[in-house]
Amino acid sequence: MTDFELSPHYRELQAEARAVAAQVEPFALEADAMSVVHEDVLRIMRDSKLFELLVPKQYGGRDEQLDPLAIALVREILMATSSHADSLFALQGIGSYSLTRGGKPEYQQEWLPKVATGEALAAIGLTEPIAGSDLKNITTEIVPDGDGFVLNGEKAFISNGGAAAFYNCLARDGDGHTMVFVRGDAEGLSFLPTPEIAAPHVLADLKFENVRISADDIVGVRGKGFDLALATLAIFRVSVAGASLGLAEAALREAARHAGTRIQFGKPLARQGAIAEMLADSWTELEAARLLTYAAASRARQDPAAALHHSSAAKLFASESAGKIVDRAVQIMGRWGLIKDSKIELLTRQARPMRIYEGGSQVLRLGISRELVADTLKTTEAK
Ligand SMILES: Cc1cc2nc3c(=O)[nH]c(=O)nc-3n(C[C@H](O)[C@H](O)[C@H](O)COP(=O)(O)OP(=O)(O)OC[C@H]3O[C@@H](n4cnc5c(N)ncnc54)[C@H](O)[C@@H]3O)c2cc1C
Repeated sequence: MTDFELSPHYRELQAEARAVAAQVEPFALEADAMSVVHEDVLRIMRDSKLFELLVPKQYGGRDEQLDPLAIALVREILMATSSHADSLFALQGIGSYSLTRGGKPEYQQEWLPKVATGEALAAIGLTEPIAGSDLKNITTEIVPDGDGFVLNGEKAFISNGGAAAFYNCLARDGDGHTMVFVRGDAEGLSFLPTPEIAAPHVLADLKFENVRISADDIVGVRGKGFDLALATLAIFRVSVAGASLGLAEAALREAARHAGTRIQFGKPLARQGAIAEMLADSWTELEAARLLTYAAASRARQDPAAALHHSSAAKLFASESAGKIVDRAVQIMGRWGLIKDSKIELLTRQARPMRIYEGGSQVLRLGISRELVADTLKTTEAK
C-alpha cells in the first residue's frame, strides 16, 4: 500500500513537472493538434531533464531503476496540460525499456544516454494490421539468413513512428517471439501514414522488407520477446492511469469553473442540485482513481510483474473514470462543451484512446479476473 501522503521526494518531483508543464502550456493547443513532433515542446522536454526518469542511472538516468510512481506522477501533470508532452515523455520509456532490460551492452551504452537526453526518440512496435490485443498472433517474422536474420512484415499505429531513432519490434521467430532492435534509418524499413485519429498523435505504420537483423540486434533472449513486451507493460501500464488522472483533473477544473460562473434560473449552475451532484461524483471518482493509481504504482516499484493486476485495475478504473468525468464536464458546460478545439473538446477526444491502448478495458478485466480465480481454477481443473 502507499502512504496517503507522498514523500517530499515525490512532491519535489511534482513541483518540477509543474514547472515544465507551465513552459509547455503556451504551445499546448498547437502541439496537441499535431501528428508530427512539435519542436518547441520537444526542446522544453529535453531541457527539462525529465526523460532521465525513463533510463537507469548507469546510462545517464536519474534513479538506479525506473520508478513507476515517479513516472505516473509526471504523466499526471503533463497530461493535464498537453497530451503531446505526455506522449513524448511516456514513449521515451515505453520505447526503450526492452533495450534497458535486454539490449546488448554496447547498444545500451550507445543509445540509452541519448534516450535520457532526448537526443534519440524511442518507439515500440507490437501492434499489426491483424494483431492488436491478441499479440501472440503477430505475423511480422525474422528468418535466419547468413550470419544474421531478415525481418519482414508490418506494424500499425506506432507512436513516434517516423520520428524515432529506433524501434523495439516484436517478431515471430519459429515457434516463439523475439524482440528486435531496428534503427529508424534501416535499409528496408519504410513508413506508411496511419489514418488520422480523433485526438492527433505522432503515429505511423512501419513496413519491413528484408531488413537485415544482426545477432546483436536481438534484444534479450531469442524466443522470449513476449516477456520483454510484458515487462514493459508491467512498468508503464500504471502510468496510463497517471495520465488519465491528469486529463480528468483538467476536465473537472473546466467544469467547476463554468459551473461557478454561469448563471441560469437566477443562480450559478453549481447551486443547481443535478450539476452539484455531477461535480461531486466526478471529484469522488477522481480521488478514488488517484488512490488506486498511487497504490498500484507504489507496488510496482517493488515488483512490477507481481503488481500487474493492480496496475491493470488502476488503468481500467482511472481511464474509465476519466471518460465519465470528461463527459459530465461537457454536459455541465452545455454548448461551450462542444466548441471545436476548445480545451474541453480536446480533452473529450484525448480521453477516448486511453481505454483502448496498453490494454483495452475488456482485456484488462479478463486479466484481473484470471488472477482472481487462478487458485480455484487450478483445483477445479485438476479434478
Ligand atoms: C494513440 C494510440 C497509440 C498507439 N501506440 C502504439 C505503439 O506505440 N505501439 C504499438 O505497438 N501499438 C500502439 N497502439 C495500438 C494499441 O496498442 C492497440 O490499439 C491496442 O492494443 C488494441 O488493439 P486493437 O486496436 O487492434 O483492438 P482489438 O484487439 O481488435 O480489440 C478491439 C476491442 O475488443 C476488445 N477485446 C479484445 N479482445 C477481447 C476479448 N478476448 N474479450 C473481450 N473483449 C476483447 C478490446 O478491449 C477492444 O475494445 C496505439 C494505439 C493508439 C490508439
